[in-house]
Amino acid sequence: MPVPRRYVTDAIVLSRFDLGEADRVVTLVTPDYGKLKAIAKGIRRPASRLGGSLEPFAELSVVLARGRTFDVVTEVHVGHAWLGLRDRLESAATAWYLAELADRSLEERHAAQPLYDLLHRAYELLDAGMAPGRVARWYEMHLADELGQRPEVDRCVECDRMLEATETFRWIPPLGGVVCGRCPGPPAQRTGLSLDALKLLKAYQRLDIEAIATLRLADAVEREVEAAMRDFMRIALERDPRSLAFLDEVRAGHPSTLPSPSPAATPA
Ligand SMILES: [Zn+2]
Repeated sequence: MPVPRRYVTDAIVLSRFDLGEADRVVTLVTPDYGKLKAIAKGIRRPASRLGGSLEPFAELSVVLARGRTFDVVTEVHVGHAWLGLRDRLESAATAWYLAELADRSLEERHAAQPLYDLLHRAYELLDAGMAPGRVARWYEMHLADELGQRPEVDRCVECDRMLEATETFRWIPPLGGVVCGRCPGPPAQRTGLSLDALKLLKAYQRLDIEAIATLRLADAVEREVEAAMRDFMRIALERDPRSLAFLDEVRAGHPSTLPSPSPAATPA
């Protein structure tokens, strides 16, 4: 849609990087204007009116003025800060990962209401203390849907036959999902998928997140589905999310650095 000279929008910060002496460029996701980069001039000076507000893990209301390279942030109001999310390192690291996936999925200046709503909901759930792994899998599955790449977990992607509980399965992300025991599929290692993992993948597609949160699951099955969905997202987005390394360090109990404030920032 045509963007007026000065406009107001809801926004969530996806990533950011410092520019020059005191400026910062933020990548925002907004419902109506999609993803956009904007510059906050002087924000790193102590007296800046914007300082402290233009932060990730919050729903913001942002006033922007059209600029030549980047639009310019002129005002920021915090609509909702997800403070509980920030308090727990694994939730915060997961939030960065979800933001990076959104950043990689969105084209600039294309309306993105469904994806905005998805990220917003995921942050609410993390803020409420839901297990970060469950939120992340639920988000990945719905993001794949939004991208038109819903994983096939009901039929074989090769022969289109309904999968049966008594057969063996393989998870082949480049083909879009599960290959049955009868089809040859591509020669590959590490693609076996257990029946329990298949059931959990189906649950992520069919159940709402509140129901998923109450499932009692073996760690091994959760890990199997995590690996499967990571592979799937890597193929769907054609790259490895950079924020995963930090998330893995947090979960192993020894983060080497503070959370990167700019997991997906690429200074233009
Ligand atoms: Zn088949």
